[in-house]
Amino acid sequence: MTTPYLSAKLQGLGTTIFGEMSALATATNSVNLGQGFPDTDGPSEVLDAAIEAIRSGQNQYPPLLGVAALREAIVEHQRRFYGIGFDADTEVLVTCGASEALASALIALLDVGDEVVCFEPSYDMYQACAAMAGATIRPVTMHPPLYAADIDQLRAAISPRTKLILLNSPHNPTGKVFDRRELQAIADVAIEHNLIVVTDEVYEHLLFDGLQHIPLATFPGMRERTLTISSGGKTFNTTGWKVGWIVGPAGLVAAVRTAKQYLTYVSSGPFQPAIAVGLRLPDQFFVDIAADLQAKRDRLCAGLVAAGFDVFHPQATYFVTVDVRPLRADGDGYAFCRELPALCGVVAIPNEVFYTDPRRGRHLVRFAFSKRFEILDEAVSRLKGLAA
Ligand code: PMP
Ligand code: GLN
Repeated sequence: MTTPYLSAKLQGLGTTIFGEMSALATATNSVNLGQGFPDTDGPSEVLDAAIEAIRSGQNQYPPLLGVAALREAIVEHQRRFYGIGFDADTEVLVTCGASEALASALIALLDVGDEVVCFEPSYDMYQACAAMAGATIRPVTMHPPLYAADIDQLRAAISPRTKLILLNSPHNPTGKVFDRRELQAIADVAIEHNLIVVTDEVYEHLLFDGLQHIPLATFPGMRERTLTISSGGKTFNTTGWKVGWIVGPAGLVAAVRTAKQYLTYVSSGPFQPAIAVGLRLPDQFFVDIAADLQAKRDRLCAGLVAAGFDVFHPQATYFVTVDVRPLRADGDGYAFCRELPALCGVVAIPNEVFYTDPRRGRHLVRFAFSKRFEILDEAVSRLKGLAA
């Protein structure tokens, strides 16, 4: 089925699943464990800094690169957590969320017909942005329960048209953290084939069980070929502020800037200095947010197991994936998500949207646990009736 008016390159992209499912949650008054956003505010220092910025008149266009205070805070953050240095004037670009960083990077770096190698499942935006750039995604599929990265398949996916590898760790929707061995293997492939790597690290502070985030840019030979993307939304519970950034070598950042300036030019003026305050919070803040979310993961996962799902425990992020087949014999995760609000008043996301071939993820569904404990408990008590 073709969508009228829509260009050939965007055919098939439809409405994002997040729009569809959040609208369904509102319409049915369901507990929304679909779209990944927290239901509590972040640190008061960060909120106060935004209010102060608005009151003190920082309400016009910020500079194209982003306000200096934020770019400097991003540089300090990369040094403090990962020991890697960047120049705040030439190697950092503030964007309208990680979303615009991704879009600008792909639009800036890809020519029509180029290929992007990417592990799947993958965040739905990747395919859309590649399509807008006229490029295609060559997927390397990861399978539950472990979602291990198959490096032979990664090598097999590289062709003469491959321009870049797009990596997301910690990973949405699986909650996987690529381990050091996998990252080294990805780095080896990138160096061997002289590829650029774009890494999406928006969940960099939300790792569990003592795991540490390791940016790919810290591996030998990778800094000069890696663009690292993150944003303040997940770390500071400010997903609506859309303050993101991209850091990397000056040449690559300059290319991305060319595309970015014609997308939004700039955004989020008063929120930029506020996110700078957040990035400079003491280490304990970052320890605490991960611990809080880990407890929420444990609460929801235990509930999903009790409800009868096959649960793939995540190592990070907001999300847990389950196999619905124990509760729905035909294994149709999309139908399951469409019916769930009426059946029991809970909204989830069908993972098939995260695959280039939806059949690969048909039986999988994602729940978000970035919610208050009482909301998670309410969702679990509703889901427990399903098996009956
Ligand atoms: N990348 C991943 C993996 C995501 O889950 C999201 C959604 N939050 C984004 C990028 C977009 O981030 P932002 O809201 O900062 O644009
Ligand atoms: N990244 C969030 C998720 O995966 C929100 C995505 C969105 O609303 N576009 O749920």
